[in-house]
Amino acid sequence: MSSVTLKGVRKSYGSLEVIKGVDLEIESKAFVVFVGPSGCGKSTLLRMIAGLEHITAGELEIGGRQMNDVDPSKRGIAMVFQSYALYPHMTVRENMGFALRFAGVAKEQIARQVDEAARILALEPLLDRVPKELSGGQRQRVAIGRAIVRKPEVFLFDEPLSNLDAELRVHMRIEIARLHKELKTTMVYVTHDQVEAMTLADTIVVLRDGVIEQVGKPLELYEDPANLFVAGFIGSPK
Ligand code: ADP
Ligand code: MG
Repeated sequence: MSSVTLKGVRKSYGSLEVIKGVDLEIESKAFVVFVGPSGCGKSTLLRMIAGLEHITAGELEIGGRQMNDVDPSKRGIAMVFQSYALYPHMTVRENMGFALRFAGVAKEQIARQVDEAARILALEPLLDRVPKELSGGQRQRVAIGRAIVRKPEVFLFDEPLSNLDAELRVHMRIEIARLHKELKTTMVYVTHDQVEAMTLADTIVVLRDGVIEQVGKPLELYEDPANLFVAGFIGSPK
């Protein structure tokens, strides 16, 4: 199982610095939530952990290994996005197995891993459908299934529920919490929804304009926000 460590991590696009020196230790098997207003750098941080963005300065370690220049497929991570971009012409089974097939995993093993992910997410009755025959919630479940079949040590979620209606969001939130218990993996979860952050996280990281404002347990942040920004975002007024 894998911890994730960021040391003095920075990111610039041209002359615009959007991540301005982030130090963070995410323990193995933790559920860590990044919160902060739109544009504060949540997705950029997550994408650097995933290897989808180059790190301008600083160091990233996953499971104690330096990962700055390691290929995304070799980091032991899987990412679930907000826009779940399933392959429209493939069945649920094919969508879930695709990455493994691409990686040259044997057919029988793919079938086993897809069946296991389908069981965990209660997707068995839907395996032969194509995405247009699924509801929004079912599609998002398939997108999570696609990550599970890869057996990652670290799951990265970028606002996975923000396209769903309120009722479904609550339901999926409970599913994701259950998933964390069952899989016992490290989860790093981005949201701008305070309720999601408070209910899912063992640790919340509050970001503002490319820097960390505060790191703590949900109750600590609520009861003892470091400043007015954190208080306004999740805390009770100081
Ligand atoms: P969040 O996910 O918190 O809403 P992002 O990480 O997407 O924020 O963006 C952080 C900042 O970086 C924003 O100011 C955004 O405009 C900028 N940014 C993100 N991606 C790019 C890019 N490819 N080129 C230039 N600026 C970018
Ligand atoms: Mg974002």
